[in-house]
Amino acid sequence: MKTPIYMDNHSTTPVDPRVLDEMVPYFSEKFGNAASRNHAFGWEAEAAVDEARERVARLVGASSPKEIIFTSGATESDNLAIKGVAEFYREKGNHIITCATEHRAVLDSCKALERRGYRVTYLSVDQYGFVDPEKLREAITDKTILISIMTANNEIGTIHPIKEIGKIAKERGIIFHCDATQGVGKIPTDVGEMGIDLLSMTAHKIYGPKGIGVLYVRARNPRVQLSPGLDGGGHERGMRSGTLNVPGIVGLGKACQIAKQEMAEEAAHHIRLREKLKDGIFTRLDEVYLNGHPTQRLPGNLNVSFAHVDGESLLMGLREIAVSPSSTCTTASLEPSHVLRALGVKENLAHSSIRFGLGRFNTEEEVDYTIKRIVEEVSRLRAMSPFHKQAQRDSRNKQEVQPKIERKAI
Ligand SMILES: *Cc1c(COP(=O)(O)O)cnc(C)c1O
Repeated sequence: MKTPIYMDNHSTTPVDPRVLDEMVPYFSEKFGNAASRNHAFGWEAEAAVDEARERVARLVGASSPKEIIFTSGATESDNLAIKGVAEFYREKGNHIITCATEHRAVLDSCKALERRGYRVTYLSVDQYGFVDPEKLREAITDKTILISIMTANNEIGTIHPIKEIGKIAKERGIIFHCDATQGVGKIPTDVGEMGIDLLSMTAHKIYGPKGIGVLYVRARNPRVQLSPGLDGGGHERGMRSGTLNVPGIVGLGKACQIAKQEMAEEAAHHIRLREKLKDGIFTRLDEVYLNGHPTQRLPGNLNVSFAHVDGESLLMGLREIAVSPSSTCTTASLEPSHVLRALGVKENLAHSSIRFGLGRFNTEEEVDYTIKRIVEEVSRLRAMSPFHKQAQRDSRNKQEVQPKIERKAI
């Protein structure tokens, strides 16, 4: 087994060798510009782009490849969807509904629109991170032009009831955007079945290259229109000007084809590894808490809070395992994650939370090693923590007073 171990697959994933193989020729001998309509080099590039467009369309259930707009990634797709709809449908209304646990690309796009006079409702979530479709229904006004809710959360893995949300949007004639970056290729995602009108995704979360993504834009029932973010050559049906990143697009297409073929088997494998990791940690350590829902979550996601442990010290101690803290370092302070805060996780627990992201190339051996190291490191830090000692004393006292009450396994 090689270290460091990569277990942060929600941040990015390595390019699958099969993806890289298909990309390589498009950097050199097949270097044409897909918009060059007048010679063979252009036709060759265009054909490769067309094939990739079809592969993406098939993975997300688009009814036509024309609905696939290539962008630089999910951040751009989220910006284009939200700002593009807001501007195009300004006459119709100025109200947008989203959710408190969305990715920054969605939340900050909404914040930018608020500064320009739009009104945004940020729906709260329950203890597992679910939005309540009834609350969504209540938030809709006759000025609502867009609902933006992600399929699956990038920190806690919670999978929202997207089909229900799509149905409500359809009933009320409101455009439904979905940041499906974490869900596509991991859980079944079908824009028809789920009633999604706009969908963001990115290649580098599904074993494709960085810097290439997609915005799916529904062309019929209803035909969704957008104001473009960029002015220029009118590529991608005028929605996203700029010379196409052909090698990136080819890689994204291949990544989508593999995901479609292997998703079911891969998901089952990830669930097995995740449950093993979870059980390994939860049976050996007390005062550990699962963030997100036990089953309605992304197959490869595990998010755990370790009481009486400083998250930063824990990560420092685990240098040979690449995982993410559920807090973001800002210049001045360590901010607890907005997602955990929305779930109501207490600040000290939020600071001691770790997100594990299992991926295609993780092995059982790596999971075993990770369990062993987590248990060692948490125990070592707790042995030095005055809070932990106090908590142990408190719990012993409680047991002496009430000997019949068993401490429940978490
Ligand atoms: C990673 C991620 C993004 C950003 O994608 P980029 O392609 O890196 O811009 C947006 N939304 C979610 C949910 C993500 O996980």
